[in-house]
Amino acid sequence: MSTRLTRRHFLATTAACAVLPSTLRSAEDPPSAAGPDLPLVDLHVHLDNSTIDQVVELAKERGVKFGIVEHAGTKENEYPVVLSNDTELKGYLAMLEGKPVYRGIQAEWTDWMGCFSRGTLAQLDYVLTDTMTFPGKDGQRVKLWLQGVDAKVDMADPEAFMDRYVDWHVEIMAREPIDILANLTWLPGDMLEQWERYWTAPRMKKVINAAVEYGVALEISSSFKVPRLPFLTLAKAAGAKFSFGSNGRYPNMGKLDYSLQMARAIDLKPADMFAPAGNGLKAVQRRKY
Ligand SMILES: [Zn+2]
Repeated sequence: MSTRLTRRHFLATTAACAVLPSTLRSAEDPPSAAGPDLPLVDLHVHLDNSTIDQVVELAKERGVKFGIVEHAGTKENEYPVVLSNDTELKGYLAMLEGKPVYRGIQAEWTDWMGCFSRGTLAQLDYVLTDTMTFPGKDGQRVKLWLQGVDAKVDMADPEAFMDRYVDWHVEIMAREPIDILANLTWLPGDMLEQWERYWTAPRMKKVINAAVEYGVALEISSSFKVPRLPFLTLAKAAGAKFSFGSNGRYPNMGKLDYSLQMARAIDLKPADMFAPAGNGLKAVQRRKY
């Protein structure tokens, strides 16, 4: 089974377990039903199994603007497409040129910056990454959502794992010139069901402080339904910026129910939302790496 299918299966399983309020807006409702006066933007859209023209059509139907993120980093990262050098990144940028979408990447592992020149990275609208690939016992990259992960990552003591995982969130924001941290606070296996137990206030504050310090926006993920409300409440109070993400593959991009529900719950305003930065202000331009 491919990585993507396994991840999808996981998404389907978690979605099936989630209970959503019946008042929640369905993705088919017009965008005006969203409630808060926020731009409807899904900055976490994958093109797997679809073409850009199909996806642009879907964006129109849903009334949601999309930001496309192709995986980017070394070829050691296994995905259907991994952009690994300037030529591939320029080809991707050209493919999206003139389309009504933002052009981003989902950066992989910690060494992706070395694959590209700064000038080419600066042509992107933004860089997004997540914390779901984690150092294993041997230091090698491990996808935490795959089966058998506990053989590769020491998770015997979940509290000790949590401390390392929180530090991983902080380290990624400290070291990498990213604009958005996606899927954050997600937890592997059945730990996700005990999110409130593991995400204690001191752990939440460490991640939030790093986001504010390094100017990294926090994705409210409609695919994993993270971060949960206590985290988002603290993050807003700390002055963090937010983005919405479906992590969607065709035709599931633009489904932002959880993101919008949380935005209403913490009363997000347009000024609280991340918007792709102008030239000179992008993370790859303003951060040292
Ligand atoms: Zn993704």
